[in-house]
Parts: sequence; structure tokens; C-alpha cells
Amino acid sequence: MENTLKPMDAEQLREYGHKMVDFIADYYKSIESFPVLSQVKPGYLKELLPDSAPNHPESLQDVFEDIRQKIIPGITHWQSPEYFAYYPSNSSTAGFLGEMLSAGFNIVGFSWVTSPAATELEVIVLDWLAKMLKLPDQFFSAGQGGGVIQGTASEAVLVVLLAARDKILRKVGKKSLEKLVVYASDQTHSALQKACQIAGIVQDNFRVLKADRNSNYSLCPEVALEAISNDLSAGLIPFFLCATVGTTSSAAVDPLSELGKLSKAYGMWFHVDAAYAGSACICPEYRHYIDGVEEADSFGMNAHKWFLTNFDCSLLWVKDQRPLVQSLSTNPEFLKNKASQENAVVDFKDWQIPLGRRFRSLKLWMVLRLYGLENLQSYIRNHINLAEQFEQLIKTDSRFEVLSGNFVLRFAVGAPLTEEKHIKEAWKVLQDHATTLLRSI
Ligand code: PLP
Repeated sequence: MENTLKPMDAEQLREYGHKMVDFIADYYKSIESFPVLSQVKPGYLKELLPDSAPNHPESLQDVFEDIRQKIIPGITHWQSPEYFAYYPSNSSTAGFLGEMLSAGFNIVGFSWVTSPAATELEVIVLDWLAKMLKLPDQFFSAGQGGGVIQGTASEAVLVVLLAARDKILRKVGKKSLEKLVVYASDQTHSALQKACQIAGIVQDNFRVLKADRNSNYSLCPEVALEAISNDLSAGLIPFFLCATVGTTSSAAVDPLSELGKLSKAYGMWFHVDAAYAGSACICPEYRHYIDGVEEADSFGMNAHKWFLTNFDCSLLWVKDQRPLVQSLSTNPEFLKNKASQENAVVDFKDWQIPLGRRFRSLKLWMVLRLYGLENLQSYIRNHINLAEQFEQLIKTDSRFEVLSGNFVLRFAVGAPLTEEKHIKEAWKVLQDHATTLLRSI
């Protein structure tokens, strides 16, 4: 029993922790040797692992061996420099160290009192980010607003939808739930649809407005206005409009200013989802993509996509936290404490769905401190530059057109290890496929 792993022995942690860091470092070093997309068949792992957990401890060496032989083949390598699917999901040394520290402290910071540093660091770091993004003053913690870290953009849109729903129902009466209408373009992420399902919005009252190539796949304010007017005439109640900066399919940008003004004119909550592209707006030359965010009630950006912060870390700002708290607060006896009761602190449990919450601000803080704004800007610029090089490669091949309309090839550059050679290799793969395809028709 001498050598078995105890739950929390400092010296064992040191020894095993070093081995794990070495393992991960070696994985990153050899990541290009793996096929980016896992090649296993469904159910492969059941064949390889025993039916029950072991009765007696096994060695870390044996576990590492199984990770090499059985787990890694079933990994799709999101950190590979040749990964261009979906959207980036950045890991970084700073983000990873922050995750490690968060796992080490393992606090559950739902209320300020459960670890004051967790709440206060989150408030400060979200203010730092708001400053980097030049968000309007109302999104800062000094007033009624502020930022909070959610697990995902899906949770972010859900909590603001619930806040908006309850806010309008307080005005028009609870019985009007089935008259409430939500608006977004057909390019909007399906997270909004899921949020509507959870929030009890009648399925037919989720207006998925057409955005096509004529508007570069962005939502036309005229189209939104027409839908709103029709709904008002039908006795329905428009209450929520979601715009996207950087849609999932084609990185389209909705016109925030016009849509925001429209929302305001009709007393609707205006949410801006910049989950994917928002990171770029820390660069002055790309900040204009969120011009009009001044009109928004809430704004979201995923630091876990393209901002070197390990999953999960979805940032949400609201101009007024009161509707959120009104919708999501509970106050059972066992959570009462002096600081909360005196209203002297923020309790983030009231800004989110779960009670428990991880110390996620640590990793974002470490990313901001260990890289600094200038390096983060260069990081974004480098990816945009690589994407532009890819565009140039496309233009040299007459068989391809850039954004020709109906068929769009989605190629997301944003992995931390990606360099020019990976872009060229990816282009070669695409060209080879095009040649095969054209030969077959
Ligand atoms: N919104 C946009 C624009 C996205 O690109 C994504 C990415 O998947 C999401 C929402 C959903 O993000 P999450 O996985 O954090 O819920």
C-alpha cells in the first residue's frame, strides 16, 4: 500500500503532476503525427476496456499506456495545427496553467463568501476585457451592469432570454407567455433555438428570418421590421432580438446599430452573440465589427474559442444585472450569509443556471497577464493573415471562387499551432479532392 496513490498527498502530486505535464508536452510535440479526425468506429472503446472498474489500484504507467493505445486513437485533435473545422478551441500554456490552478484550489464559488477572490477576480477580469473591447460604460461593473463567465454561449443566451422573458411578463402579465416572439436570422446559432425551447417560447413564435447572399448572410433590418409589424398586428408581443457578429456558417455580421435601434423602438431585449468573432475586436482595425453594441442589452464572446483560454470560458456582459437576478435568484436558508444579505457583494449564482461554479477567471487572468494585449492582438492578426493567404491560394485556382454563393467551403483558421505550411498543406488536400471530384463528373 506504500506506493498507492493517496487522494491528496503533496509529494505524490508533485511526482505525478510532473509526469502528466511531460505527457501533455510530448502530446503537443507529436500532435501532427496523428490524423486530425479520429478514425475509430462507434463503440470502439467498449471492446478495449474492461466491463467494471478495478478493485485494486493500477499504476499511472498502465493508465498512460492505455491513454496512448486506446484513448488517443479516439481523439479528434482540436489542438492540431491542421485543424480547420467548426471553430477554434484554443488551448495555451497560460490557459492550461490557469486550469491547473483552478483544479488545484477546486473551490465552488457560487457566492462571494465561498471564495471572495473568485468573484472579485471575475468582476475585474471581465472589466479588463470590456475595456479591451471598448464596450460601452454600462457593461462595466461600476454601475448596474457587468460581466460574468458562463460555461458556454448557449448558457449565455439562455440566461438573457430568461431575463428578457420575465421582464416583459412582469409588464404584460404571466398569461401572455404564449404571445412572446423571438427574432433572429436563419444564420443564428442553434443555441438560440434551444434556449427558446427551454424558456417555453411557443415554437411558432421563434422567427427565423431569411438572410441570403444579397445581404452577405446578415439580417436586414427591413426584414426584421416587417416581421415585427406583422406580429404586432396579429396581437403578438415581440420581446427579444438576437444579432450575431461572426455567424457559424460564414462569419456574417448583422448590422448591430440598426437592429439595436429597432429593438429599442419596440421595447425588445437586444442580445449580440459574438461567440466566435468577438475576440478579433480587441484589435482596433476590427473593432468596427461591433459598432452598435452600444444599443445592446447583452453581449457575449467565447474566450474559449479564439482567445487562448482553455474550454470552458464564455463571457457575457449585461447592461443591467437586475433582470438576470430577478429571474435566476434563489435564497435558501443554507446559502444565507452576512455579505449577501447586506447586498455588499455580487453572488454569481444568481447570474447563471447552476449553483456550483468553477474558478474560471483564473485562466482568463493568466492569459491576459502572461500574454498581454499586444501579443493577443498579434495572435489574432496572424490568423487573419493566414486566412488571407488561404484566400490568395484559392484565387490562383480557377476551379474555385471565393464566396461564390450557394456552396460555401468553411475553413476556420484559429488553432494556436497553425503556421503557413499547414495552410498550404490544407489547400493541397482541397485541390486534390477537387481534382478527384471533377474527374468523376
Ligand atoms: N454562437 C456562435 C456564433 C457560435 O459560433 C457558437 C459556437 O458553437 C455558439 C454560439 C455556441 O457556443 P457554445 O458551444 O459555447 O454554446
